Amino acid sequence: MLTTNFKQLFFDFCQINRSCREQEIQGKSDLDLGAWYAGLDSLIRCYRLQGERQLLIEVLSDPYFPFSKLQKLNVKELGKEPKLSDLSEESLANIAAEHLLEWAKIFQAIRLDLRKLNKDGQVSNMSLKGFPGETIPQTNRCSNCGCCCEIRGGPPEFTGTIEPPREWLRYFRGDGLGYQRFCPFLFEYFATGKFFCSIYLIKPKCCWEFDREECDFLQEDVAREEAERVH
Ligand code: SF4
Ligand code: SF4
Repeated sequence: MLTTNFKQLFFDFCQINRSCREQEIQGKSDLDLGAWYAGLDSLIRCYRLQGERQLLIEVLSDPYFPFSKLQKLNVKELGKEPKLSDLSEESLANIAAEHLLEWAKIFQAIRLDLRKLNKDGQVSNMSLKGFPGETIPQTNRCSNCGCCCEIRGGPPEFTGTIEPPREWLRYFRGDGLGYQRFCPFLFEYFATGKFFCSIYLIKPKCCWEFDREECDFLQEDVAREEAERVH
């Protein structure tokens, strides 16, 4: 892996992608994707194997890939992990690049499973066909910040009537990735910073038990972070 510039290349691509997705949502028909392809090409060159590059092209083109959470938690704040705080920038970039690849594998696997299981939105409560016309279903007072899903894992007691694939138990437990900072079932809507649960209708029991008070507490954190960014 050639990770010297990984962090910058990833940040640059996130920004380009956000801008393109924003125009897509606005219904712009003459989208110029030159910068998007160039940014993606530079980023995937951090990876040597053709199979890895191919996987990343597929996954990073997905409108539901959680760019913003990965950017914040798995790249920008990676050095805050107690076990990683002494590492050099180069080592951190290496771990972040590896992590992106691992996340891409799990994201691709979940997407494939959902294509089979999510008929008529029975699992996600959305069709997930990638059209910006399909917006996230609104649930009471939720701003879709996704903070309640910043978990390293939990008991995989899935609910609902659809049997989840065996691998999903491992993903929810947090055994799928090292340094998991948020749930792999958390998807982002068109790089807008709005998140949703891709398995909403069968999500585990502990997710249903999350209450308003905890949400308010997390919202205060979000507001504080935003205020710090402005000042
Ligand atoms: S923390 Fe609250 S506002 Fe944010 S996604 Fe969870 S329920 Fe919604
Ligand atoms: S299963 Fe859904 S609600 Fe539960 S933590 Fe994961 S993304 Fe969030």
